[in-house]
Amino acid sequence: MYSTKAYAAQSAASPLSPFSFERRDPLATDVQIDILFCGVCHSDLHTARGEWGSTKYPCVPGHEIVGRVVKVGRDVKNFREGEMAAVGCMVDSCHTCENCKEGLEQFCSNGATFTYNGPDKHTGGHTFGGYAKSIVVDEQFVLRISDKLDPAASAPLLCAGITTYSPLRRWNVGKGQKVGVVGLGGLGHMGVKFAAAFGAHVVLFTTSPGKTEDARRLGADEVVVSKNKDEMNKHANSFDFILDTVSANHDLNAYLSLLKRDGTLTLVGAPPNPVPVAAFSLIAPRRQLAGSLIGGIPETQEMLDFCAEHGITSDIEMITIDKVNEGYDRMLKSDVKYRFVIDMASLS
Ligand code: NAP
Ligand code: ZN
Repeated sequence: MYSTKAYAAQSAASPLSPFSFERRDPLATDVQIDILFCGVCHSDLHTARGEWGSTKYPCVPGHEIVGRVVKVGRDVKNFREGEMAAVGCMVDSCHTCENCKEGLEQFCSNGATFTYNGPDKHTGGHTFGGYAKSIVVDEQFVLRISDKLDPAASAPLLCAGITTYSPLRRWNVGKGQKVGVVGLGGLGHMGVKFAAAFGAHVVLFTTSPGKTEDARRLGADEVVVSKNKDEMNKHANSFDFILDTVSANHDLNAYLSLLKRDGTLTLVGAPPNPVPVAAFSLIAPRRQLAGSLIGGIPETQEMLDFCAEHGITSDIEMITIDKVNEGYDRMLKSDVKYRFVIDMASLS
């Protein structure tokens, strides 16, 4: 075991503060990574503040991790000391169930081990994430990022990227389709970039009129301020697919009514409280409401390779780790363009 510095929340009510804990020394198939950058996801905030009700403290969030390999176990085949590497939302799964065999480790029937707040098979405690100097991960859960991409701006691809890429692929979003993205935050701005890259006609729904120009620059063909009922009504019954990335409770029926026959509204945003859905929003004209959780390891690598090929990264604001609590408060006010990334060199 070795000690690593980090930032942790000690309770739902306490801000994140300096903390240190022990990581395991790399086992035969493990990769040890010095973390250079870690993105700040709204899930980090939901978890640190106990909003989903399942947080174990102390909580070290962070699942958008990019760093350099500093040590590998003797059986590691795909990574070498000195290379760049990345870790997303998962660090382990059973490898034997049907979901794992299909590369959908996030749905592991025996329970995937998430990068933080998950049961740690090695220590018996819970996992600690990427707001830390170092991490040790089985190589099967370590991703490759191209040197063509900026490493800091690539960090958010590990969650915001795959979480939007996966449903857009799953529902075959592409040319000739009208696709909506709800919310221009960390996930939403990646959703706009990917939907545009896949050739769809992209409409961004926002509560922040000030984000209109950015949304167009990021790839949206149209921008709708969702508080404006007339603007919303103009799009009734017209969408093939809508991706909802909103982190707070809001009216889903307003978006369901914009879907055409057999259209799908997929939720990736995870507000803490249930939301009412009117039966008539769905039954005619035969609409669907769905959800999606990050993406499996093979698809995450596919997404990173797609990003390298198309020059796609996240639009980021780099912060030092002592500004992370301020970052959370700004994220809650939808005031981030469009993802905070912590420069881990600031943690000493
Ligand atoms: P974020 O950067 O805070 O973006 C959320 C966006 O939602 C905001 O920028 C804002 O966009 C909009 N919004 C916020 N409050 C709203 C309200 N009251 N009504 C309507 N719109 C509102 O968060 P994120 O990191 O993208 O994460 C978004 C959600 O996805 C979180 O709940 C997170 O936990 C969840 N998540 C899910 C998965 C998954 O696998 N399913 C993975 C990662 C994250 P505008 O200013 O444009 O309105
Ligand atoms: Zn996330």
